Amino acid sequence: MSTGAAPDTADIVVIGAGVMGSAVALELARRRAGRVVVVDARHGGEGMSGRSSALVRMHYTFRPEVELAVLGLRLYRSWPDWVGAPSLLHPTGFVRFVGPGEEASLRANVAMQRACGAEVELLGGDELQRLLPGWRLDGDTLAAHEPQGAYGDGARAAGDMLARARALGADYRPRVAVTGLQRRTDRIVGVETTSGPIAAPLVVCATGPWTPTLLAGAGIHVPIETELHVVAIVHHPGGPPPARLACIDAVSGTYFRPDGERTSLVGDFTGPRGADPDDFPQQPGMEELARLVGRAASRMPALGEGGIARGYTGIYDMTPDARPLLGALPETEGLIVVCGFSGMGFKIAPAIGVVMAELIESGRARSVDISAFRPDRFARGEPIRPLHPYGDEFG
Ligand SMILES: Cc1cc2nc3c(=O)[nH]c(=O)nc-3n(C[C@H](O)[C@H](O)[C@H](O)COP(=O)(O)OP(=O)(O)OC[C@H]3O[C@@H](n4cnc5c(N)ncnc54)[C@H](O)[C@@H]3O)c2cc1C
Repeated sequence: MSTGAAPDTADIVVIGAGVMGSAVALELARRRAGRVVVVDARHGGEGMSGRSSALVRMHYTFRPEVELAVLGLRLYRSWPDWVGAPSLLHPTGFVRFVGPGEEASLRANVAMQRACGAEVELLGGDELQRLLPGWRLDGDTLAAHEPQGAYGDGARAAGDMLARARALGADYRPRVAVTGLQRRTDRIVGVETTSGPIAAPLVVCATGPWTPTLLAGAGIHVPIETELHVVAIVHHPGGPPPARLACIDAVSGTYFRPDGERTSLVGDFTGPRGADPDDFPQQPGMEELARLVGRAASRMPALGEGGIARGYTGIYDMTPDARPLLGALPETEGLIVVCGFSGMGFKIAPAIGVVMAELIESGRARSVDISAFRPDRFARGEPIRPLHPYGDEFG
């Protein structure tokens, strides 16, 4: 006997409303790709996007990454037109120091980035000292400088894209967890959720560090490990440091940036593997924070003169080559993954929305060739290997 309730259906279900799920939903809605339903176990931006340090830079070693970062920056810079919300970028400029002996790679990568349209220059000696007063620089240090470097806000970015997606017709359901994928032989045909099943011919999985567990329930393995990261917030009661640029520094193994008028944010390159995204330590210890800030202060001494106001943690979804998994999985129709961003997702999220929507719409991303990010590249023995990698790239 029928209950009278119509089955819940969608053309595309997007699982996860962080920056990635929101960006994909926005671009699908913009393209009128059908009925898009976005579900999130929490709320848009409450996952790792809300803990992101949100540095925006274009300095990468693999060409398609640079192209995604260039497109991402362009879209963030046109945010009011793109999503109809005020800009969320804080322009600071950005500087990248590489490890000893990596200057030739730095030069090659900067040339490649310029060819991709990135505004970036190599600076050394007096020029670098003038840009970074008060920083500790060896006389011969060479660094890449991006005048357009900036930082943003992950929770706001997710919220803005989601709001625009909804205005364009996407159906957003917060506090609805996907508990399993519906499978018919080798096809995914929908999702089971805490508020009932949703049938859909296409499911997009944008669940960050929760992805391996969710997909394992459907017998699908993705090569993602979680990695716990610590962030310190430093207060400068005596006035902010003179050079307020964002920085990634291979020598100290830290990154840092301004965080408002009188505070700085400091983060680590690595962290312990195996954190449970549903149950991880939220508060780093004071000693750990002091060690982290001390390392960053070896580059920018003013950081060591501030007071550590607080700290927090977040989780990266690391793949073996520290690059995302984008696209369909072999032998599983009806499922697309957008995950494994390995600590780099914020800056490229709007671009990921565009390329994934293109892929879904026509079978191929046109704006940037993302085929190297195919999820089965490890099984095929084809991990991404940049021409001029740095020693700090693979966590
Ligand atoms: C400490 C830290 C610093 C970072 N710094 C930078 C940086 O400086 N620059 C940069 O570009 N990137 C940075 N990143 C990386 C960037 O923030 C991430 O790559 C990006 O936010 C990932 O977005 P996401 O949408 O994939 O994941 P998330 O934001 O984690 O979203 C996943 C969503 O899926 C939902 N979900 C999970 N399981 C289910 C389920 N079963 N059912 C329904 N919903 C589910 C979650 O609730 C969550 O909202 C940083 C990350 C961290 C943690």
